[in-house]
Amino acid sequence: MLIETHAHIDDKQFDSDRDEVIARANSFGVEKIINIGAGLGSSQRSVALAEKYDNIFCSIGLHPHYFMEYGEKSFDKIFEFKSLATSKKLVAIGEIGLDYFIPDGNIITKEQKELQKRGFMLQLEFAKELKLPVILHCRGSRPVVPSAYREAEDSYEDILEIILNFPKLNFVWHSFGGRLAFTEKVLAKENMLFSFSGNITYNKPNAEIFEVLRKIPIEKIMLETDCPYLAPVPMRGKRNEPAFVKYVAQKIAEVKNLELEDAAKITTVNAENFFGIKTIN
Ligand SMILES: [Zn+2]
Repeated sequence: MLIETHAHIDDKQFDSDRDEVIARANSFGVEKIINIGAGLGSSQRSVALAEKYDNIFCSIGLHPHYFMEYGEKSFDKIFEFKSLATSKKLVAIGEIGLDYFIPDGNIITKEQKELQKRGFMLQLEFAKELKLPVILHCRGSRPVVPSAYREAEDSYEDILEIILNFPKLNFVWHSFGGRLAFTEKVLAKENMLFSFSGNITYNKPNAEIFEVLRKIPIEKIMLETDCPYLAPVPMRGKRNEPAFVKYVAQKIAEVKNLELEDAAKITTVNAENFFGIKTIN
């Protein structure tokens, strides 16, 4: 029994076989799926999917890229966005956060950061109003030093500073990529969990991510695929899908020296509690 806590099956890559993908997840032991909103359109599709399928729940959120794309105009759509919150299948706000990585090699400006922060904080206030947990998206800018290929932790620090003002909300750091020292800061907070996706299977055995994973108690970990992207080994390069969350579970069990069954059971309970989706038998 597994819960896929971060899927984008509303993505057009699933248009031709969505029903089969969902059925396959069930047959692989994926009991529930949380489909994530990452913009206005995808939040609308996420709600529609959850309304259609019993075992799919949804989140709604405006991704930092959304604010980068639409600038000031993003804020005109907030009312429309908030109106989606009437769905009974809505279990979280997200993915929201800060993304300082600019793909063309440019460096994010102060104004762009401010815009992202405004959008992020507005949605945190909304989550507080609705008493819903928050799914965080965090990507740092690439350091200017060419040899330092790892992302910088500027966005991590900024997110943490902001969310410390919301002590009553629960947070999950989705597809977590923070370093060890930062992990320890997050671990000190009771209202913060971590989720890991298929990219943990790409690393060499001595990678820092495994130290990070060993440091985090299994009671603070949830599983995800972030499909259709980042398919875990041995499916790397293929389209990712919720069924593949089992490979993420296997990797985490291996790194943390746990039986797969135990890792699955505990991460499932974590997700049920975090999203409030416990099945009552
Ligand atoms: Zn995502």
